[in-house]
Amino acid sequence: MRRYRQALLLVVLTFASCRRSIVPQQKLPARQVVTSAAVLSPVAASAAEPSTTAVVLAPAAAASATPAPTRSLPTCLAQAAQPFLIDAHLRNQALMTAKSQAEWWTRLQRSIRYRTEQYGYYSGFGLHAWNPRPLASQMRLAKFAGLPVVLHARVIPALQCVEQAIERDCTAAPYRPRSLGGTRRTNTYTGGEVSNHVYGIALDIDPNDNPCCNCVEPWRSNPKCRGKKSEWQRMAMPECWVTAFEQYGFYWLGHDELKDTMHFEFLGDPDKHAPVVAP
Ligand SMILES: [Zn+2]
Repeated sequence: MRRYRQALLLVVLTFASCRRSIVPQQKLPARQVVTSAAVLSPVAASAAEPSTTAVVLAPAAAASATPAPTRSLPTCLAQAAQPFLIDAHLRNQALMTAKSQAEWWTRLQRSIRYRTEQYGYYSGFGLHAWNPRPLASQMRLAKFAGLPVVLHARVIPALQCVEQAIERDCTAAPYRPRSLGGTRRTNTYTGGEVSNHVYGIALDIDPNDNPCCNCVEPWRSNPKCRGKKSEWQRMAMPECWVTAFEQYGFYWLGHDELKDTMHFEFLGDPDKHAPVVAP
């Protein structure tokens, strides 16, 4: 009888143990993985409208997509873009001496290492060992100003803080974007620099209305670039929007030599807004 009881107890404990290992997994929400095929190209992203999410994403990926965290933000901590990441931008190369170019190269390598460790490895830049997680698996579908955009999961909370600030502070200058561009699969920079679009941490807003007057053609031929005007006069986006982005760690390339007024990139510390995404 005692043996029978022991055997019965063993069966009960084994069953209970199995339930402990199974139930939490069943309760976990399905994690969205936006495949590389689902990542928007800049052109597709620019054409995207809120009602066309299923068109710009592969249907399978869209169906399994877990939306990025939405309005339930615990806190929005103000922070500035980190200077060492801003300094890694390529300034006017023609004016660089050999010494200043070598210094810039060192800054760029530090920036690549930081972005790799924080966001993922982009083939050919830095070392895979710094962060073995593929970039593509960390991209998420988010919404900003009512439009869909694919960005790195770690910067979406900061973008939501920006949107809240715009809704709160920019009512005097209403502006509704018509197109957004986020993640790109290929690097559009040359000369060793890596676009923050490949890391999923850059966002373009209405490229035709907020031009990049010192970029390559056809961007610099935008009619808004004609004449001597400030970057503020050349763009449609209100200055208040730039202030809101800068409040939460985004850097605006309107300040840069490029005068790329459509472009914001998150150069703050992502840990201030979101935990590291679990593998
Ligand atoms: Zn851009």
